[in-house]
Amino acid sequence: PQVLDYFEQKCKTSKALAERAKEVIPGGVQHNLAFNYPFAIAAAKVDGAYMWDEDGNRYIDFLQAGGPTILGSNYQPVRQKVHEIVESCGPVTGLLHEYEIKLAEIIRKYMPGIEMFRMLGSGTEAVMGAIRLARAHTGKKWVIKVGGDYHGWSDQMVYGMRVPGTGRREAHGIPKGSTAYTQEVFPNELGSLRRKLMLNKIRGGTAAVIVEPLGPESGTRPVTPEYNREVRKLCDEFGALLIFDEVVTGFRVGMGGGQGYFNVKPDITVFGKAITGGYPMAGGIGGRKEIMMTLAGGIGGKGGKRAFVGGTLSANPLSCVAGYYAIEEMARTGAPVLAGRAGDRLTAGLKEIMNRLGLPYVVYNMGSIVHLQTSAVLLMSMRNPIKLMREADARKHLMEEMGAAYLSRGILTLAGSRIYTSMADTDDVIDDALNRFEDVFK
Ligand code: PLP
Repeated sequence: PQVLDYFEQKCKTSKALAERAKEVIPGGVQHNLAFNYPFAIAAAKVDGAYMWDEDGNRYIDFLQAGGPTILGSNYQPVRQKVHEIVESCGPVTGLLHEYEIKLAEIIRKYMPGIEMFRMLGSGTEAVMGAIRLARAHTGKKWVIKVGGDYHGWSDQMVYGMRVPGTGRREAHGIPKGSTAYTQEVFPNELGSLRRKLMLNKIRGGTAAVIVEPLGPESGTRPVTPEYNREVRKLCDEFGALLIFDEVVTGFRVGMGGGQGYFNVKPDITVFGKAITGGYPMAGGIGGRKEIMMTLAGGIGGKGGKRAFVGGTLSANPLSCVAGYYAIEEMARTGAPVLAGRAGDRLTAGLKEIMNRLGLPYVVYNMGSIVHLQTSAVLLMSMRNPIKLMREADARKHLMEEMGAAYLSRGILTLAGSRIYTSMADTDDVIDDALNRFEDVFK
């Protein structure tokens, strides 16, 4: 009741907007993981570590837009460059622009596996393009993904997707044919991957294995450090390309992304989010020249093959300038390291509070990505799926309630269970957050 009172009394404008939104926007929010319980909160302003809602309440912003803003929200030096380019070029020209080259060059400088780079409109598009590229380049058709990994919302990748934390099927409207060559394996389970690769060998071959380097859902189910190395070896053994989906990890877990962190070179890397510092049209594919030239078709593709990708607004000057300066600033300031330290401090503090209060909660982090589990662990009773579903729904509701409780004490999280820290999270911000979390837990 205390939490619900907060929303009734302090978030009147948000409540009115949330009601209006429900009339014209399915579900009332556009982002799948947007805060929506007891109703959506409307943002009026973001800056650095903070978000202010339409009623003027201030929150420590651990959502950070879902991950792209490693420098902190609305970072002034990048915003300045975006203003300048909009003055000279507007948002789009449809022509080559120097900043496209500068962005590709700076990505190549920091990411070990990148020789060439092609910009696209979103992480989803980049995954679609990477898979098409792998198929065109290898002439093989099967694609293996890890169960629970999120690679955007294309037919072939949301196949089998479940509502986070519930196990209930979420993605309908996908005909069997469009997922006919997608396979799933369990994370950390190399035996099943090998078996699938062997089976595929005699029926057309595996074009690619795609993984999130930290494990499904940015490490919600973490993989062991050896896992990526072993997957790399298996791909080499079977002639499949290894695709790293670095939409979240790219620049967040270090300037070299997950590939630098684990010292594993993928053949193709998929980017999104931080690639434009959070500005629109954030997606791209990078990789070895020999593979990437397949995007250019007859000019250089193996056997004259071309993997076709497109996008009217992709690689527009605004996105490229924002991406170039965001990456340059991240390198200059050491933002991934600073954001990671904030994540470490927050995690250590939360652990201490949980232990002191005797709470059976779980918290762990990979640098600036913090996973916070405060709801019952799912009993994976496959023999009794109805029971499983009931427990799962209860768990999802608990996550929402915890998210609302955090918000009522001035902390914005992603779905009550994930936190992205940024360079703006100084020790003072983290210590303030810890006091607020303790208040909620109590
Ligand atoms: N891949 C991963 C690992 C992601 O986390 C996401 C989005 O959260 C995507 C792909 C899809 O990117 P976008 O939302 O830009 O389409």
